Amino acid sequence: MNVIERIEISQHQCELDPPFPAAWDSQPRHKFPAAIVRVIDSEGREGIGSGDAMYGFDDFRSLFIGQDPLAIERHSTVIDNIGFHAGRCWPLEVALWDLIGKIKAQPLWQLLGGTSSRLKAYASSGTHRPTEQVVALAEQIRDAGIPAMKLRFGRHRLDDDLAVLAAVRNAVGKELDLMVDCNQGWRMPWDTQAPWDLAKASEVAEELIHHHVLWMEEPLYRGDYPGMRALNDLTGERLKIAGGEMTREPYEFREMLRQQCLDVYQPDAVCSIGLLGLSRLAKEVTTAGKWFTPHTWGNGIGLAANLHLTAGAVGPAGCPYLEYPFDPPEWTPKVRDFPLTTAIKPDAQGWLTLSDEPGLGITLDEARLAATRADQATWQ
Ligand SMILES: [Mg+2]
Repeated sequence: MNVIERIEISQHQCELDPPFPAAWDSQPRHKFPAAIVRVIDSEGREGIGSGDAMYGFDDFRSLFIGQDPLAIERHSTVIDNIGFHAGRCWPLEVALWDLIGKIKAQPLWQLLGGTSSRLKAYASSGTHRPTEQVVALAEQIRDAGIPAMKLRFGRHRLDDDLAVLAAVRNAVGKELDLMVDCNQGWRMPWDTQAPWDLAKASEVAEELIHHHVLWMEEPLYRGDYPGMRALNDLTGERLKIAGGEMTREPYEFREMLRQQCLDVYQPDAVCSIGLLGLSRLAKEVTTAGKWFTPHTWGNGIGLAANLHLTAGAVGPAGCPYLEYPFDPPEWTPKVRDFPLTTAIKPDAQGWLTLSDEPGLGITLDEARLAATRADQATWQ
């Protein structure tokens, strides 16, 4: 029988020069870390995954060695159990799916539902740059044919955020759908700033409505279900409320669905629940009339995994736009996808289209990975 022969995990750090001033991080980022997971079967095939740092996985490696790689229901349950006791090891589940696709000679989008092979991209900025720079980026995105853009709020003064939004709307008119990520759902470990309360989120929401914003992302702490419900009631059809990008448990999403907290559900398959669990949750979300559009901020392997998941499970009807991290000069497709031989890019109409290559359909850039080899998974 074909079995999982070994699992290899390597850490890599791509230098960021100049440092990337991520809007959600109080410390500029000098390095972009990536943990690459490889699952090798006894017939010599290799599945790859990446995303979370795989903290604590070594103690559980033996649970997978010698197992049938095709037993994904079992593997996904074990990874879920590990996540309760230790770290989030969902990149392993992605690598197992990539291997399964290679064994079955099928692309993941087909194995995960086959609804579609493509989704429209939205360009997701990641910084608090000055107004004129954000306007220039918006015009660049529009001119590239990408139909939507996400801005970041959270500057020291709300008026500064609003001035950027107003200037971008003024520059692009109705040519771009605009989203705003408030980044109040979670903090980096060193950041003790309190999240917004409902009064502040409501004040911001009214301003977003004034500028015809499509969705307001993470306006409140991730566990503030009553606040999200109240905000969603307040904004109604005028503005969608989005969130859940780092929420870990399917039952949390089901409770948010039950309480009508969100219009847009954003779990990232390389951080939470995995491709199998999210292919099911995605259908529940869209059956309830909501959008399912994962967070993808990370490297291109995570972007590819979430693209296969969402295109395959629900397609464009359930996900009008998928996040495409893009904020040059620091955050380019080349940097974002540094572990890969080919960067993922939308076409001139903004479509991200998957091939019929088996599995994820991506190839590791082994020379680049060798040159970026590191012994830890940190941003500093
Ligand atoms: Mg976000």
